[in-house]
Amino acid sequence: MTGQPAKKPGEIAFPGFSCVIIMTMKVGSVALKSPQRRLRRLGINFIWFLASLALIGTLLYFVFRVNLTVTADDALREGRLLLSKQTVLAVVAHPDDLEWYIGGTLRRLADAGADVQVIVASLGEKGPNRTGVPNLPEARRQEQLDAADINGYRRVHFLELPDRGVAADPRFLPRVTEIFRQVRPDAVLVFDPQFPSLPYLHTDHQGSARVFLGFWRTLGEDRPPVYLFQTRRPNVAVDISPVVDIKARALAQHRTQNGSGGSGRMSQVFKEQGTLVGVASAETFRVMR
Ligand SMILES: [Zn+2]
Repeated sequence: MTGQPAKKPGEIAFPGFSCVIIMTMKVGSVALKSPQRRLRRLGINFIWFLASLALIGTLLYFVFRVNLTVTADDALREGRLLLSKQTVLAVVAHPDDLEWYIGGTLRRLADAGADVQVIVASLGEKGPNRTGVPNLPEARRQEQLDAADINGYRRVHFLELPDRGVAADPRFLPRVTEIFRQVRPDAVLVFDPQFPSLPYLHTDHQGSARVFLGFWRTLGEDRPPVYLFQTRRPNVAVDISPVVDIKARALAQHRTQNGSGGSGRMSQVFKEQGTLVGVASAETFRVMR
């Protein structure tokens, strides 16, 4: 994923905040006739400023919060249906995307005997190099393979496309479709490009999923369902409580990317997803058929 929350390219900025500040300052610049009136006007402006911030914050919270669109029981039932799939293909942009977002689901699928194959489109060469290795792409490839061993993937397909240029690369879709036709999956897992959950957005994540879905929509009615992850409109929940420690161990293989802190943050994020459906830890998806 090239990292989690904070300090990554592609995060959302909210220009509305600066508008409010500018408008507030403009009102405050009106000439005032006495220090008392100036002080009172400043106080009023400050209160308006705080109220505007609160209003914007509330609106953003309701628009961007993660919101289950079915009952918890239905989401968990859909999760069990996903775990019954026999051949699964996951498509991501960078080493560690799999283990962060869907590592628990993939481990549970492997435990159930599924053929789990994954496509990692780039080697994440523009991500951080927290261990200072001399050859970051090769280090990240090996870390992905180590994580795959722990998580039980049958095969990792490396496309070696340029980091931060995956979605726009004309080689991406032909290679994905070729693998798709070879693997013949009965479920595909990709990022949610339409309703992604915050705070972390990346053009490779949502962009690659958008390109894949464009292809998927051209398939006939026998196309496999697509499970969209990092979504704020989930209708599927997989209980990953039994495998969350294995997921953490797989994620910890990405030492150049996460240093030593990634697994702790991951555990907290997926505990919060678990609270949506009443289990200790869950990974959630939006299924499209
Ligand atoms: Zn990534």
